[in-house]
Formats: sequence, structure tokens, C-alpha cells
Amino acid sequence: MNITGKSAAPGVVLGSIYIYNKKFIIPKESFLNRDERQSHLDRYLLIKEQAKTELEELKISLQKIDPAKAEIFGAHQEIVDDITINEEIPARILSDLWSGDWAIFQVYETIITVLKQTADSLISERSDDFDDVRALLLRLWYGQKNERLSSLKDPVIIAAYDLKPSDTASFDKNKVLAILTETGGVTSHSAIIAKSYGIPAILGIEGLLSLVKQGQQAAVNATEGTVILDPKDDIVTEYNIKNKDFLRDREEAFTYMDKEGLTSCGVKIDIGINLSDCDSENDLKNYVDMAGLFRTEFLFLGRNTLPSEEEQFISYKKVLENYGQKPFVLRTLDIGADKLLSCMDNKSDESPFSTNRGIRFCFNNPGIFKTQIRAALRASVYGNLWLMLPMISSLDCIRKAKKLISDVCLELEKEGIPVALFKTGIMIEVPSIALISAFAAKEVDFASIGSNDLCQYVCAADRADSADAGYYQSYHPAMFHLIKEVTGSFLQEGKPISICGELGSDPLVVPVLIGLGLRKLSMGGASIAPVKRTIASLTIEKAQQIAQEVLQLQTAAQIEEYQKNR
Ligand code: PEP
Ligand code: MG
Repeated sequence: MNITGKSAAPGVVLGSIYIYNKKFIIPKESFLNRDERQSHLDRYLLIKEQAKTELEELKISLQKIDPAKAEIFGAHQEIVDDITINEEIPARILSDLWSGDWAIFQVYETIITVLKQTADSLISERSDDFDDVRALLLRLWYGQKNERLSSLKDPVIIAAYDLKPSDTASFDKNKVLAILTETGGVTSHSAIIAKSYGIPAILGIEGLLSLVKQGQQAAVNATEGTVILDPKDDIVTEYNIKNKDFLRDREEAFTYMDKEGLTSCGVKIDIGINLSDCDSENDLKNYVDMAGLFRTEFLFLGRNTLPSEEEQFISYKKVLENYGQKPFVLRTLDIGADKLLSCMDNKSDESPFSTNRGIRFCFNNPGIFKTQIRAALRASVYGNLWLMLPMISSLDCIRKAKKLISDVCLELEKEGIPVALFKTGIMIEVPSIALISAFAAKEVDFASIGSNDLCQYVCAADRADSADAGYYQSYHPAMFHLIKEVTGSFLQEGKPISICGELGSDPLVVPVLIGLGLRKLSMGGASIAPVKRTIASLTIEKAQQIAQEVLQLQTAAQIEEYQKNR
């Protein structure tokens, strides 16, 4: 059987399917015969012990690498043993004849509801812990497998409805051959993570989870967006050859890794890396001129408490030291949309198209913003800090954010804490600021074009929603006209301008960007070598000619066609 979706990261692999389906199980209300009561009670007591063992294993495995997360699992063990719960569940089974799963669901539900209604946020946040423990107990009740990607044993092709940054935060990239999802556009965060790890990915596969089976063999051509289930021998042979060709091409591109980003006419293009955490891809720093985007969200995601100033300071210090005097663009918290905090009730903002995110979320939560800025500025003395503000839409936003930053500077000065010279810049990802980039360029030290979000707001199409895919057009002519405008504005002011969205690593688009005047491109680690290879094959004159031709084209399809055939 053949299935198709959108190619989000290239590659060809063969392997077995691992279905990652974390959908929460809601049991049906059901009642027991009197003689079934004891077996349900015994089963509850048994899974309770299994839950504690599982939590203990998790706690131990995390104690060294992430003590904060290990602590969470310790708290979950206490919930499993909670006295009230353990009086209530047996009572409901024995006296009210509730089935075990219904009793678990309802008893926890009562507690979760009460906690959620508490005004004290520290207490209401605890409802998430009870929710997690309930999900664990019900999973064990139904005998379902542990759905943590961190515990993958053999390399597999992950098939999921969706992958959120909190899912991918913990997985071992060597255990993931390919990613297939039902949802997700090509610039969704799951796509970005897959691409930066060099994992082949196909997103937006309609009905995927009803088409595949656990352990089923699959041949994935993520370059073309096709999957063949249960491939016959001839397909296996063909895909083995394709896989070798792909790896050979990747190796050939890799020979450019340690070269500079130089055009064949000798013009230097600065290459940056986009980082989504503190530890991975450390080894790549020698191959780039800057860290062009450090997404700080990883520190905040998948946990029930906010990271403290000290915790953030330690992380920022580590990465700043790592990059030495190379510019290090630390983007302030871009939470909201498809990156939600477990510890805050902003679930209503879950649409990637949501606009309560980035700097706006920070303005609404100034305490969180100030803590982050304090941590970043304290770390500034360890490297070359460029602070970058996401979701800026007006000069008012720039001024308000700069005022908050300067308040923090004064506060630190009063406390005698040293702060090194740093730059303040913005992401250009909202059309309103792109259109007045000439004004914005006078107010900030630098900018970076966030083409992923810029495209979703320019085209009015959700970047993570596969249903909108026809409208989300990365090659929309408006994108290239805007990029030209923004680049011109910043160059005019003599201020650094880069691109850190996915367009900046698209080999078809790189010549256009250079032709439009960009000299700084930042991208995921896996794109560095191929982009350097593309740059090496280019002269500025040729790039300018390509850009001029693209600017004359009127539709995304025409631009794509032109790029593929030139
Ligand atoms: C962008 O929007 O282009 C960008 C780089 O930021 P993110 O993908 O993290 O939203
Ligand atoms: Mg963005």
C-alpha cells in the first residue's frame, strides 16, 4: 500500500513502524456485577505497584541528566500513594460497583477539578501532576505500551498523529529513522526539529494512524513524500539503492562542512546555526560564524514549574562560553501557539496561528520576561550576546521591550552585577513590522527574518495545519518582495540582517536570498553543509540575476517551477 504526505526533511529509509499515540483514554461509565468487584480491586492494586516501579525507573534515569524532571516523577509517586485517593477508589469499586477504570478516572477527576479552581496558581498547577498520574494508571489498566520517545530501544520509523516540541525534546535522534505524522506543515516545529537532526520526515499524511500497524515494515521516501507499506523484495532492493545514493550525496555535501560560506566569486556569506537546546550540536560551532537563533523555549517546555533565573543563567552561560566571541543570538521566550507551558493555563492559545505569543506573552507575564532577561544579561559577560525579540509588530513593542530590558540593566547595575555590551534586535515575522522595516531598522541593532511565521501571517495560513497547506506558500511572491524590502532597510542603516526561518536553508531559495542582498543565513545543523555547497556554486552576479527574475513572477507555483528548472 502506498501513502503520501508532504516532504518536510529529505531522506530514504527502510524500517519498522513505531506508532506513537498518546491520545488520552477516557473510559466509559460502567458498573460491575458484585462478583467482579474483587478482581477490579486487585487489578487496581497491581497497576498501582506497576506505576510506582515505572516512575522509580524514570526518576533514576533522569537523576543525573535532569534533576528537576526527576523530582517531578518523585512527586508523581507520592500521588499514586495518596491516602484519600486510595480510600476512595476501592470504596467506589466495592460499594458503588464502579468499574476500576471508571473509578480511577472519576476519583482523579474530582481532585483535578477542585485543584484547577483554586486561585493559588501554585496549587492549581498541581492538577497537571494528577492528570499525568491518571493517564499513567489508565494506560497500565489498558495494558498499553509506555509512550515515551526517550525509551526507544531500536531505530524505528515513528508514526504519530502529531509531534510536539515536548515529545521530541527527549528522544534519541539515533533511534529515529524517520518521522511520519498526520498533522503538521513543513515549517511546523516538528518539521524543523526533524530537519535539524537530519531525520527524514513526511507530515500531513491523512488518516496515517488508521493505515499503519505497530511493527509493520515500511519504505519511506521522505524526499518525495511517499511511504510504501509492507514493501516487496524489489522495492526493498530499490530503496536500499536510493538510501545509499542519498547518503552518498549527503557525504559529498559534507565535504563543504569545514569550508567557509564563500561564493565562487569570493564573497563571504555568514553561516549561522539554529539551536533548540543547550547540549546537542555543540560540535558544530566550529563550522559556523554565529549562533543565528537560540530558541530558549526548550528550557520551559515539558515541565511543571518555570525555570529559575539561576537555572537559565547556567544554561545561557554555557552556550555563550561555547561560542566565544562569535555572535550568539539568544531569542527571548517565544511561548504560545504550538509551544505551550505545562505550568500555565494558556491552552486556549494552542493554535500556531495564535497571536498571544512571543513578546506579547512576555508583556502579559513581565515577571517571566524579566527573569529571563536578568539571566541572559548576567551571562552576557561570558560571550557575545545578541538579544532577539520575537513577534514584534510595531515600534511601540520595540520601545516597550527595550524599556523593560533597560530596567533590568539598571537593577543589575544597582546590585553590582556586571553586564557586558550586548545588542538588541528583533525577529521580522509579522507583516506590519516588515512593512515599516525602514523605521524599525533605526530603533534596533539587528534583525533576523523569521520566514516561517512571516509566511503564516502574510498568507493567513496556519503553519502547522496540513489542511491549510495550499494556502501556506513559502514561495509566495509576497515573501520575496518583503524580504527584499526588509533587507534593503537594514543594509541602508548599516545594521546586520539575517534570515533564520526555514527558507534560509532551502537550497532552491538560497541563491534568491543572496541575490536580494542577504549575507547572513542561519539554519539547522543538517543544512549547513548543503547550503555551503550551494553558495560555492554561485556568483553574486548570477544570484542577482536569479533574484530579479523571481521578483517578476506572479505565483508561488511559477516561482517553484522556475527554481526547479533554472
Ligand atoms: C520563524 O518564525 O521563522 C522562526 C525562525 O521562528 P520559529 O520557527 O521558532 O517560530
Ligand atoms: Mg517564529
